[in-house]
Amino acid sequence: QAKIAGKNRFEFFNLQLNDNLKAHYEYLDQISNGLNMGEFELYYQPKVEMRTGNLIGAEALIRWQHPDKGLLSPLTFLPQIEEHPLSITLGEWVIHQALKQLETWKTKNIAIAISVNISAHHLMQSNFAERLAEILAEHPSVNPADLQIEILETSQIEDLKHTTNMINLCNKLGVSFALDDFGTGYSSLTYLKKLPIHQIKIDQSFVKEMLYNINDLSILEAIISLAEAFQHEVLAEGVETIEQGNILLQLGCELAQGYAISKPLPASDFPNWLSNWQPPQEWINSELQTHD
Ligand code: C2E
Ligand code: MG
Ligand code: MG
Ligand code: MG
Repeated sequence: QAKIAGKNRFEFFNLQLNDNLKAHYEYLDQISNGLNMGEFELYYQPKVEMRTGNLIGAEALIRWQHPDKGLLSPLTFLPQIEEHPLSITLGEWVIHQALKQLETWKTKNIAIAISVNISAHHLMQSNFAERLAEILAEHPSVNPADLQIEILETSQIEDLKHTTNMINLCNKLGVSFALDDFGTGYSSLTYLKKLPIHQIKIDQSFVKEMLYNINDLSILEAIISLAEAFQHEVLAEGVETIEQGNILLQLGCELAQGYAISKPLPASDFPNWLSNWQPPQEWINSELQTHD
């Protein structure tokens, strides 16, 4: 009796597994079709220097204009393709698209650098730098220095040797790197010492809490000092209020990104935002922090 029940349970489990897998494969097909149908789009969020208002770049953030479900956040579909070859197809599409955008903006006299997010899985590919060189070669009018790559601190970065090597190869092409969501991942001082990155992006969770939580304020201060010690640029993500910007400026963090400046915008809205943008007066009037 027990044996039969066990067998039935096993079959039931198998059926469910099949259903889930089927749904998963269908979803992968939808993403793949969506890419071919041009349903994906990059939005752009400005990165600025708070005191001067200078635009230092724009981060490309992917969106899926789904025919039935509307505009989808990357958090709904990227996790489904992590580690899957599709994540590389998509990653390369993002790089292409960003380079095309740089070409378009160049013709409109918008001088800007674009940063793209690249998954750890993609960066782990042994031919990543080679492919990047090929893609750059397809856009000869783009200066590679106008492309930046944001990587997350994940367990895969623990393969420090590969990651360091890969970043070095890309740096030789002229492409620089930022360490994204800093403070939430696996970072250690060793990473910071070894990774040839240009910019540290402080995770938005610390910015969000700093007005209420003294510990987060201390973490912010520590990250900013670390960045200075390693001579990396430091940028705060998720700056939603003028007040948050004020405090960051007091702590010596000059670069920011967030809703207080602009939400991520469709590429076509970006020039208009740029011509109207002015930093809040409080940021302009803040004193330049010099540390000794
Ligand atoms: P991220 O790279 O850390 O990007 C910042 C996220 O914070 C974006 O969410 C952005 O819309 C959001 N954000 C910006 N300013 C504010 C703010 O002031 N307040 C709040 N609450 N949020 C703000 P988004 O676009 O949903 O992207 C989520 C994550 O998905 C990104 O985090 C990035 O890790 C990943 N992602 C986005 N596009 C791509 C892509 O093309 N490729 C890869 N591999 N990952 C991507
Ligand atoms: Mg990012
Ligand atoms: Mg981030
Ligand atoms: Mg993030």
